Amino acid sequence: MKEVFKYDIAIIGSGPAGLSAAIYAARGGLKPIVFERGVFGGQITVTQEVENYPGFHKTLTGSELMEEMRKHADKFGAEICEEEVKGIGMQGLCKIVETNKKIYHAKTLIIATGAHPRKLNVPGEDKFSGKGVSYCATCDGFFYKDKIVAVVGGGDSAVEEAMFLTRFAKKVYVIHRRDELRAVQIIQDRAFANPKIEFIWNSEIQEIFGRDFVESITIFNKSENKHRDIKVDGIFAYVGILPNNELIESRVALDEQGFALVDESMHTNIPGIYAAGDIVSKKLRQVITAASDGATAAWSAEKWITINQEDENTDLKTCELPK
Ligand code: NAP
Repeated sequence: MKEVFKYDIAIIGSGPAGLSAAIYAARGGLKPIVFERGVFGGQITVTQEVENYPGFHKTLTGSELMEEMRKHADKFGAEICEEEVKGIGMQGLCKIVETNKKIYHAKTLIIATGAHPRKLNVPGEDKFSGKGVSYCATCDGFFYKDKIVAVVGGGDSAVEEAMFLTRFAKKVYVIHRRDELRAVQIIQDRAFANPKIEFIWNSEIQEIFGRDFVESITIFNKSENKHRDIKVDGIFAYVGILPNNELIESRVALDEQGFALVDESMHTNIPGIYAAGDIVSKKLRQVITAASDGATAAWSAEKWITINQEDENTDLKTCELPK
């Protein structure tokens, strides 16, 4: 029998959404616990420069920003637990979180599990993953000193990371399926002005070739109906994100892409279960919107606990912290 631990709010995920929720919850006098299974800090930790988070005008890395958020959560006594959540459940209104080590009970749950990169789904991608195919320029860019790389995508990530890769590579192709970028204008302007970047429009990678490592790609230009082979040493895919929704897909209402549907309080369709950050169905996925979601979710969870504990007919008291 696994030991049971009791908390007011269980937060799954330690990115900006999870840590903001922890700060608001702990500072509000509640007892939160944050679960993290892998790299602490979430997706933003692989971002080389964060320059649009208010108050941090001196550019800092994603890891540095998350380290500051962690210290902030520590300061208010939020508990951070490096265990992988294997499943969530409900017992009446009480939430049950089972990790690889223990069972936790909480009055409310905030899902802040984020998202992960979408794959290109082309022949050669899996074979050369880690051997020239990468989803993280910050992690792997250094290996491409004086080499030629291709970045796939036209959003903020693709264009920002293409700029970053010009620090190492002698040439960076940006291959985009349309003839205009989705990235914000200021990032586009910088990329267009960078002599190391060449844009390849209306094109998609069809296959990745090589012996032990990536050596070339075949691309198809839809508007010209032409194939072309290009010699590249590396490919960085930035074609969007997919939700990390495995824990909630069977019980929480999701949109058609699998992101959690929430109301303005970040409440899902399940009483006392909230979602925050990139896992949420929304238009803008940024550190600041994740932090905002986390704050709203924690504030709403606190109100939900207060209301439901007053109701003698609920069994929420069974989740109460030991006296
Ligand atoms: P994104 O904005 O969804 O862009 C994905 C790009 O990949 C789009 O250009 C899309 O093309 C392309 N694409 C999608 N599926 C494809 C496929 N199968 N084959 C080829 N191309 C494909 O994703 P993101 O750039 O990762 O950004 C995710 C979120 O984070 C966004 O909200 C973004 O604003 C935010 N973000 C912000 C910053 C920042 O502010 N500093 C930095 C990074 C990310 P189409 O354009 O044709 O759809």
